[in-house]
Amino acid sequence: MENFNGFGLAAPLVTAVTQMGYTKPTPIQAQAIPALMAGRDLIGIAQTGTGKTAAFALPILNHLLTHPRAAPRGGARVLVLSPTRELASQIAQSFRDLSAGLPFAIAVVFGGVPHGAQIKALAKGLDVLVATPGRLVDHMDARVAQLRDTEFFVLDEVDQMLDLGFVKSIRRVVRDLPKKRQNLFFSATMPTDIRKLAGELLHDPLEVAVTPIAKTADRVEQQIIFVDGPRKRDMLVELFKDEKMSRTLVFTRTKRGADRVAQTLDEAGISALAIHGNKSQGQRERALASFRAGNARALVATDIAARGIDIDGVTHVVNFELPDVAEAYVHRIGRTARAGHEGNAISLCDGTERDLLRNIERLTRQRIFTIDRRGVNGPAPAPVIRKATTTPTPDRPHHAPHNDPRRAQNGRPGQPHRARQGQRTRPAFQAKTAPAR
Ligand code: AMP
Repeated sequence: MENFNGFGLAAPLVTAVTQMGYTKPTPIQAQAIPALMAGRDLIGIAQTGTGKTAAFALPILNHLLTHPRAAPRGGARVLVLSPTRELASQIAQSFRDLSAGLPFAIAVVFGGVPHGAQIKALAKGLDVLVATPGRLVDHMDARVAQLRDTEFFVLDEVDQMLDLGFVKSIRRVVRDLPKKRQNLFFSATMPTDIRKLAGELLHDPLEVAVTPIAKTADRVEQQIIFVDGPRKRDMLVELFKDEKMSRTLVFTRTKRGADRVAQTLDEAGISALAIHGNKSQGQRERALASFRAGNARALVATDIAARGIDIDGVTHVVNFELPDVAEAYVHRIGRTARAGHEGNAISLCDGTERDLLRNIERLTRQRIFTIDRRGVNGPAPAPVIRKATTTPTPDRPHHAPHNDPRRAQNGRPGQPHRARQGQRTRPAFQAKTAPAR
């Protein structure tokens, strides 16, 4: 599909996408929109950055337009469940942007804020309700929300919802939905438990998979810096001497860690803000707006706080600590390679994190370029960033990628790399030297 005219979407929607600057549908939009307009259930294996929100919002809005009906009091024609308040707000905003000028009632419901405004919005009746599961169930239990008139049920970022323990709430919500409805189910990953849930909820779904998780890593220039744990903060400050790091997302494992790292950067004269679950909604929104506006060079975040947040032009992702779950690494670094752009990811890895690194390399089937800075106290050399080589997981220890000249001194030059048994291999990636920094 070359443009948005070929889908048969109502004219105001085509105008809206044009005004938003979308010229060509993304792969998930090209595949999902026709099926959804034909009334099919859908499983989308896709993460943020693929255009999945418009892929579901456009056909849904088209249906609302072409099948007008009064918004049901206490409920909504469309129910979208999202794991976090940030993502919920963002999805609602996408619905608003895509239906600009149309009289749809769209609201968000999430925890951490007073109930009053949400109760009022529900009482009036909604076309689109975007909710986090916990607060929605509170409203259902209080008989403020009733879902029997729901026509579309969208579950977004299901893997994240399950990680956050929302499975019971999801089932509770589903119990109150009408049997006849169209279901849309999006997840970045599809392990067995999620596939099982999809099997229970969906009817003969079309499955569309875009940018498989491991592939995202290919577009990002990655490097690992081995560093002693106590030196990580100094190393981070050193990295910021590179002025190209103008919009950098720094990930930490804990909320306290995020605050401490932001403080360290601030004290070193590098403008930094932190977002995590202990911050109020207002604080998080202000920090995001400030980072988006370029007022801060660094946004320090935990995985959950950053999930689903859409920020354009992130120049670098720095993993202050490697994540416990390898998939989170791919989600993190994907923040700097959005909408087809390339990006940079630097991970600080101390001796306690070697197993985590091994898991990441196994998942992404690549060897990541490494610089060893253990025991070094001077300033960092200008790092040479290379694309990770997409060869099978190496044996330990590893240093330079296969096609790095230094590797000849490390032994086994020219030897083919052995794949682990049963492991898929991909052709070795041509290492590309990044512009000098
Ligand atoms: P999403 O995966 O839904 O979070 O979307 C990621 C980003 O891509 C958002 O900033 C969207 O506004 C943008 N986007 C979605 N569809 C398109 C498109 N067809 N062309 C250009 N940008 C798009």
